[in-house]
This record gives sequence, C-alpha cells and structure tokens, in this order.
Amino acid sequence: MRASIEVADIFRAAGAAYRRAHAGHLSLPQLKVMSAVENCRTAALGGHVEACEDCGRWQIAYNSCRNRHCPKCQGAAARTWLAEREADLLPAGYFHVVFTLPAEVADIAFQNKALVYDLLFKAASETMLTIAADRKHLGARIGITAVLHTWGSAMTHHPHVHVIVPGGGITPDGSRWISSRPAFLLPVRVLGKLFRRLFLAKLVALHEAGRLGFFGTFAHLAERRAFLRHLLPVRKKR
Ligand SMILES: [Zn+2]
Ligand SMILES: [Zn+2]
Repeated sequence: MRASIEVADIFRAAGAAYRRAHAGHLSLPQLKVMSAVENCRTAALGGHVEACEDCGRWQIAYNSCRNRHCPKCQGAAARTWLAEREADLLPAGYFHVVFTLPAEVADIAFQNKALVYDLLFKAASETMLTIAADRKHLGARIGITAVLHTWGSAMTHHPHVHVIVPGGGITPDGSRWISSRPAFLLPVRVLGKLFRRLFLAKLVALHEAGRLGFFGTFAHLAERRAFLRHLLPVRKKR
C-alpha cells in the first residue's frame, strides 16, 4: 500500500522553493539527494518492461534511484537489516543506552563527519565493553548493536548513537553466561564519565595529528590552545 504522503511528494511540491530560499547553504551532495528522491521511480530515471514469457503479461517499472538516503529505496534494506538483527537476539532482556556528543563537539563533528562519527562509535563501544568487563559491575564480555543518528527529534544536528546490549555476557574464560540484574545493567554516570574521557582523548589526538578540518566561524580552532579552550566546558563536566 502506498503511504499517503512520501518525502518525494514533499520534495516535488516544495523542493524548488526550499532550494531557492537556501541557495548557497545546500551542498552538492545534499542537492543530489533531493534530486534522486524526487526522481526515484519516475519516468525521469527511465524504466524497463517486465514481461512473462509464458502468459505474455507485461508491466512497465520505473527505475529506482538507489540513493542511500532515499526512504523508498532503503525501506527494503531496513526491513532486511531488522530481520537479521532480530535473528541475532539472545533469549535475554535488552538494555538501551544513548551516547550523545555535547554541543561544543557537535560543531566540530559537523565539519569532520566521517572522523568524528567513527570516534563516537569507538568511544561508545569501548566504554560499554570496559565497564561491562569490570568485575565491580558485570564482569563479562557483552555484545553490542550501535546505530548512529545525526539528527535529533527537533530536526537539528545532534549526533548520538543508540546502543542496544543484552542484559548479560560471557565470562572472560568463555565458559558460561552471566546475567545482569533484571532492571539494571551498568551505572549510567560511570558510563558517561568514561565515555567523555575516552572520546576527548581520541579527539585531541586527531587534532594533534592535524587530521581535523575547521572552516568558517570555527577556523580559529585549528590552533591548539583555542581548540583546548573550546573543549574546556566538556572537559570540566563531571
Ligand atoms: Zn530511491
Ligand atoms: Zn536517536
């Protein structure tokens, strides 16, 4: 069944006006996504005829855009992904933890997406694995599924990862399963503190290696002292 309104309908109705209103602020990749979504499964992308050699029945099918941002093209991929993750589920309760980048770092992430999003995943998983392995907490090796969201519900840039972990794990010697307490996996405060420490250390290391780019109003952060000063509110947080 066709949903009543699709993103493509909105783009087709209001896309041109939006592009005019934001001229100069939309990147080429963003414009390409809009055009792919607008043209997906329309005559603009051409089509092909599917025919049955036995009964002679035929139909015209328009080509899909296959853009990774297109909701229509990714719907099937999302369903497959979900079914595969469901097959991975263990007969245990699951916990949901969210790791968020503070606003000061979100700005840096916006200009260094691949590097900083990668760091976000690394720091989040390292935090979960370290605290779970600690005998004071669970004392086990856990499994993790993590998903990156770069936008918050207010539709502003707000990078965070959702982490789903089973309520238990394997003992260090691999011999048996340890269950966590039913309503509790790991203390959020401890997780937050270690995450911040790991993330900042890795971010500063990237800066020292000269791998971060700074543009526009953030150009001054290329200088080491300005960069550290910018991060001070995050470093001081406890
Ligand atoms: Zn598409
Ligand atoms: Zn989210």
